[in-house]
Amino acid sequence: MAKTFNVAVAGATGAVGQTMIRVLEERDFPVGEIRFLASERSEGKELSFKTEKVRVRKLDHDSFDGIDIAIFSAGGDRSLTFAPSAARAGAVVVDNSNAWRMDPEVPLVVPEVNPHAVSGYKAKGIIANPNCSTIQMVVALKPLYDYARIKRVVVSTYQAVSGSGKKAIDELKDQVKAWAEDRIPEARVYPHQIAFNCLPHIDVFLDNGYTREEMKMVNETRKILEDPEIRVSATAVRVPVFYSHSEAVNVEFEKEISASKARELFSNAPGIKVVDDLPRNVYPLALDAEGQDLTLVGRIREDISQANGLDFWVVADNIRKGAATNAVQIAELLAEKYL
Ligand code: NAP
Repeated sequence: MAKTFNVAVAGATGAVGQTMIRVLEERDFPVGEIRFLASERSEGKELSFKTEKVRVRKLDHDSFDGIDIAIFSAGGDRSLTFAPSAARAGAVVVDNSNAWRMDPEVPLVVPEVNPHAVSGYKAKGIIANPNCSTIQMVVALKPLYDYARIKRVVVSTYQAVSGSGKKAIDELKDQVKAWAEDRIPEARVYPHQIAFNCLPHIDVFLDNGYTREEMKMVNETRKILEDPEIRVSATAVRVPVFYSHSEAVNVEFEKEISASKARELFSNAPGIKVVDDLPRNVYPLALDAEGQDLTLVGRIREDISQANGLDFWVVADNIRKGAATNAVQIAELLAEKYL
């Protein structure tokens, strides 16, 4: 009989957790037992997995007996507190939060980019899933990096509200409804109204004037591409879109790379779909990326302001490739090669 793996999903009731469950089903991950964990608030609630009904348990230190792979998406504090307990119980943790990403003993993995890094899980029993904005950017950067080495990246993001979880999805819906009914929209999750607005503010502001979200893109890109010399400057913006992050990316390379060469490299790279037919108004759109796993790349052009530069537009579903799918792909690598 084919080998199966006991899988725990911590944060199973959340935006990412729910998608994680669907992705495990869709990709037919070889699950033996499935265990759903969340807060006390969800204890006893029933969630479905394939044809089974599974009761949600409260996430605790003793939640991981007999578990082979524990996928966490219950927030950074829960990951810091409970991931070591899961690892001690013998599970390999795949963590979606930012708690462990920059730990030198924890690999930070995007399977299309640095699958070999998975082997580093042995140090702490933890593998980190990168930030959603970083994942789609490095999927696009990798084939270009291998061809022409990257010196500098300047990126502006247009990030969907689902990146802030279920409450933010509800807030955008409520604000649009309030606006349509001539009521004053109420802001609870974000510091300002998000409906019909753009907020250049994701996560907290740091002493250098960047936000933590922006610095995640700087540091995680260097770690995943294994090149501490790459210079990255990011501006992260929340926009009133439900699903899929879009990014305008400008890259300076060490050697010349034409737009047509870049298009060819993107076309042959894993996980990328080139969507770039300008005469027909075809380019990557958030609504087209939603619900699927590819990273869409378009508007590919040579930068007219500098030598060896390119501009392009990258879109991916932040909950799927930016979180759940990437985590399940990591679990697949573990299952195929390491466990
Ligand atoms: P969410 O929709 O707010 O869901 C949060 C989940 O965490 C729920 O299952 C919740 O359970 C659980 N949780 C909260 N407090 C808990 C506690 N004290 N003990 C146990 N479980 C608790 O958030 P999300 O968007 O799914 O994000 C979850 C994590 O994934 C975060 O760390 C986030 O940074 C990361 N992530 C999100 C994205 C994205 O695009 N959304 C992308 C990458 C990474 P209850 O339902 O019981 O409250």
